[in-house]
Amino acid sequence: MSQKRDYYDVLGVSRDVDEGALKKAYRKLALKYHPDKNPDNPEAEAKFKEASEAYAVLSDAEKRSAYDRFGHDGLRGQGGFDPGGFSVNIQDIFGDMFGDFFGGGRSRSSRGADLQSVMELTFEEAAFGCKKELEYTKVGSCGTCSGSGAKPGTQPQTCSTCRGMGEVRVQQGFFAMARTCPHCNGQGTQITDPCGDCRGSGQEHIDNSVSIDIPKGVDTGVRLRYVGEGNMAKGGGPPGDLYVVLKVAEHDIFTREAQHVFCEIPISFPQATLGTELAVPTLDGKVNMKVPAGTQPGTSFRLKGKGIPVFRGHGRGDQYVQVNIEVPKKLNDEQQAALEAYAELTGDDVHPENKSFFDKVKELFD
Ligand SMILES: [Zn+2]
Ligand SMILES: [Zn+2]
Repeated sequence: MSQKRDYYDVLGVSRDVDEGALKKAYRKLALKYHPDKNPDNPEAEAKFKEASEAYAVLSDAEKRSAYDRFGHDGLRGQGGFDPGGFSVNIQDIFGDMFGDFFGGGRSRSSRGADLQSVMELTFEEAAFGCKKELEYTKVGSCGTCSGSGAKPGTQPQTCSTCRGMGEVRVQQGFFAMARTCPHCNGQGTQITDPCGDCRGSGQEHIDNSVSIDIPKGVDTGVRLRYVGEGNMAKGGGPPGDLYVVLKVAEHDIFTREAQHVFCEIPISFPQATLGTELAVPTLDGKVNMKVPAGTQPGTSFRLKGKGIPVFRGHGRGDQYVQVNIEVPKKLNDEQQAALEAYAELTGDDVHPENKSFFDKVKELFD
């Protein structure tokens, strides 16, 4: 028995490779050495087996950690990875990775296509959840022939290629594979007198609507899945799924980060200096917030529990209110006089243009 090669070396990846890069590396090798592409080439077949085995182990978190700790010995007795034994479930890997590339993964290739739709929500709808109706177009069953594809009054005939089985068996390299019949697309029947409306496909574009239940706390990018609401399958397989991707509109006052809400409130210099109480907007309406005397510009106050409900969790985030001190752009004479009197009391220079340049230099080096 020759020495088994290191799985990471086999796939040409580093030991800290992530799932995506691992898949990519295997896919590259599998495409290169796949028996379909290298008929009667035992060397390619061996390389394909080796790569498939390495991938099967490293893509399984449990097996990978056993392998990392104990090497090939760590896998002995674990689902057929004894030296020489080879029992990777090729169908699983191919069904998952290649879809109908090699004609494998029959159930996958005959499944209807998934659809994706973007749904816009207001800030409040995203925060508290809502119900919305989504209208969209999908591939569905032809109304004229009820999806059979045959002209009303006629029947589909048994497929002559697969004799109604829907699949043909192909021996390729070291494994045999059942493949979807290319002639009837796995249906086992063929249409001799096609329906005029769908030209035999049994399908047409139909308007569909789904009631969308938006949970509390969702944010932009959250994707909701509606099983079976995608396109109808061609060969009688299950329909695809509908994915609804959420997009939350901006708010005039609030911004958010996860479950926390942020806003800015302008206050005046006297309010900041002497303290005040403000009516602050929140998602639950206005609440009173105390601003203590001597509050500095940019100070944030926390309103506990006034944020957004935690998505798929419990409780709510907080609201952070940042106060900004507004400088008045214009004063009337009375205000001007009062502020100048204040400046005089605090010893602030408010008219430096009256000073000589040398006074200013002198001050600079005091
Ligand atoms: Zn039809
Ligand atoms: Zn057939």
